Amino acid sequence: MSAKLYFRYGSMGSGKSIELLRTNFNYKEKNQNTFLLTSILDDRYGIGKITTRIGLDSDAEIIDKNTNLFKLIKKKHFDEKYINCVLIDESQFLTKKHIWQLTDVVDNLGIPVICYGLKIDYRGELFEGSKYLLMLADAIDEIRTVCTCGKKATMIVRYLDNKPVFDGEQIIIGGNETYTSYCRKCWKKLKDETKKDLEWGLFYLLKRLNAFSVIKTYSESLNSVKFFELVYDIADDK
Ligand SMILES: [Zn+2]
Repeated sequence: MSAKLYFRYGSMGSGKSIELLRTNFNYKEKNQNTFLLTSILDDRYGIGKITTRIGLDSDAEIIDKNTNLFKLIKKKHFDEKYINCVLIDESQFLTKKHIWQLTDVVDNLGIPVICYGLKIDYRGELFEGSKYLLMLADAIDEIRTVCTCGKKATMIVRYLDNKPVFDGEQIIIGGNETYTSYCRKCWKKLKDETKKDLEWGLFYLLKRLNAFSVIKTYSESLNSVKFFELVYDIADDK
């Protein structure tokens, strides 16, 4: 059987790292060698560790943007130990270059590579690593998790101080932020509600400043009829 490049993606909390460690265990049980790697961007639990929410962890070699994965794996394979499988966590943070290097590991060294990671970010956009894995992987599997409503969760909401956020930088790790997985429908609902809250926040601020011309201009660009009417009521009263 020829080696393959695998992409096993899942949303936040779908147990991707648990799957990785379980696959690692299965190889070890058959006395086969694995090579565990993870992205340096994820330093939540200390650099060079694959950690799970259920407390299992394992050491892993670090990948940063300058790492040549083909050279690194080839060296390990020929100079240190025969590698039966490469397992990579947080593969969404890999670059286009990294993914092409992994295809060389599969095609030229004949070593299977299994990448675990997120597909899309909290804004609903693809990560670079995931984009190229979706394009180039030989096999793609989804690790499923459920939304609070019971449907399959495919989207992520970023919470900053317990408030949902849908705009900003793609990669933000740690701090006082948390991420929760939702189905697409719940994600859109929450996004709409958040947008409305922001609009009302802005509206009250402008009202306090008596900036009615700004409110009028702003409200015309919105689709909220109720908002529109209220603004004009207040403006007329004035
Ligand atoms: Zn839902």
